[in-house]
Amino acid sequence: MKKLLLPVFILMGLVGCQQTRPPADHVVIIGVDGLSPDGIRMANTPAMDGLMQRGAFTLHARAVMPSSSGANWGSMIMGTGPEQHGVISNDWRTDNLVLPPTVVGDDNHFPTIFSVLRDQRPDWHLAAFLHWNPIQNFIEEGVTDYMALPRSEEETTDEVLSYFQEHQPEFTFIHLDHVDGAGHRYGHGTAPYYRSVEKADSLIGEIIEATRRNGMFERTVFILSSDHGGIGYGHGGNSLAEMEIPFLVSGSGTKPGHELLMPVNVYDVPATALFALGVDQPYEWTARPAKNAFQGNPDPQLRYHFNRFQPAPAITPAGEGGFNPPGGLFIGESPTVSIQNPSESGIIRYTTDGSQPVNTSDTYAGPFSLNETTVVKARLFENERPVSDEITAYFRIPADTTGRGLYYHIFEAEGISRLPDFNRLRPVAQGVTMEISSNNLMLTRPDYVAAVLEGYIEIPQDGRYTFSLASDDGSKLYINRRLVIDNDGDHGVITVSNSLLLGAGRHPIRVEWFNGGGGYWLAAYIEGSTLPRQIISPEMLYRRAN
Ligand SMILES: [Zn+2]
Repeated sequence: MKKLLLPVFILMGLVGCQQTRPPADHVVIIGVDGLSPDGIRMANTPAMDGLMQRGAFTLHARAVMPSSSGANWGSMIMGTGPEQHGVISNDWRTDNLVLPPTVVGDDNHFPTIFSVLRDQRPDWHLAAFLHWNPIQNFIEEGVTDYMALPRSEEETTDEVLSYFQEHQPEFTFIHLDHVDGAGHRYGHGTAPYYRSVEKADSLIGEIIEATRRNGMFERTVFILSSDHGGIGYGHGGNSLAEMEIPFLVSGSGTKPGHELLMPVNVYDVPATALFALGVDQPYEWTARPAKNAFQGNPDPQLRYHFNRFQPAPAITPAGEGGFNPPGGLFIGESPTVSIQNPSESGIIRYTTDGSQPVNTSDTYAGPFSLNETTVVKARLFENERPVSDEITAYFRIPADTTGRGLYYHIFEAEGISRLPDFNRLRPVAQGVTMEISSNNLMLTRPDYVAAVLEGYIEIPQDGRYTFSLASDDGSKLYINRRLVIDNDGDHGVITVSNSLLLGAGRHPIRVEWFNGGGGYWLAAYIEGSTLPRQIISPEMLYRRAN
């Protein structure tokens, strides 16, 4: 038997030699916090456009739920979703576990790409540049050769540029935080948001240029992605605008201009990096590398239709303020509705009864006007198949404001991270609001502020009604002095719903809401068997019982 071993070893050695070289010697992952596909579509982004022209891409990859930073950055370095790695909050640390990881390597961490590379390629150079510093807690201590914790996007880029002069790391992870900051401060889809994307693009251009200067470019694969998109001033929910992220794989060995028409997750980023570098993916990772981004690897044969949704049509008038859906409050007016198709293809179908547009719904032919409260929904269709998300506009059109709306009181409470005990606080301002919306409240300040809205809701007919409260931070809804919705806590925009039976007529309603810090939002919806889901109109809100 022993004699046989030698030839077998020689044969194995030969097979080893014949193995094709991995696509790349260097991978640079660039993660842009809060970069939505819409940011790339709308902003002027020559560097990212260049990556797409030279490489493979999808603008329909997905973040993990919830669409918050910690869970997604954890996934982007751990090749797995939060259900397995357990990074479910932004302040996650190994001594602060809620959900323990299913497997651990060094340091009680779910194995990150850094330790996977360290284990298999001990002599490789691994570097991390983390503008959002908490990511350092997600990475095994001492596993990187270099870890920078810069304070700005410029400093992050400068650190990368000077580091690439000294070292040409096999693996580099770069995080830029400022686009998320612009989303929170100015709103996603606003001009300042797109300007922040353009700034990210120019910094990415500098990073790419630095790989050229330092002789890495020809053998480098760049992977660009994000942790979430956003809607209004925030993220954390499950809407397409928050969940869709870009995924660009570009450089050495990639297929030029190749759109990846298959499901891709944020945790496929590090798996694709390992594939590019020819490093084995550990079984413990649940990710799938996007192999078909690279030449010689065929696209997967999908058995089912891939929903590559285009941007939804736009309805004008658009909502006022970042998170407002289109439509608006029009007192004694007849607003004119128009619907635009942002794509080159597809036709717009729409409804005005709150139902979902289907391939037999009316085709949009031009602007129309409304005289009463109406829910307008629109969606793009191509070959009878929906090819966009649907958009919903809520037009609230009361004839007048007499007796309508709710009384509200504003409170200030330092350091709150939950709804305060309002019995212990004195209001600092008060007024009447036509709607249950943070936009309509005259807040005395944006942070550490709370409000109570009170009055009556008029129910049109006996039946079961579902209420939804969307808020950032926490909120509660009481009807007939009973708690119907508890959406309390320090969080991004989260919507909580509950239903109850109500008789026709007026019922006492109370909404409590607070904002600790950062962006804020409050909106309330109602749905009944004959009432499509809609923003609660002033026509249903009264200050008095009769
Ligand atoms: Zn983020």
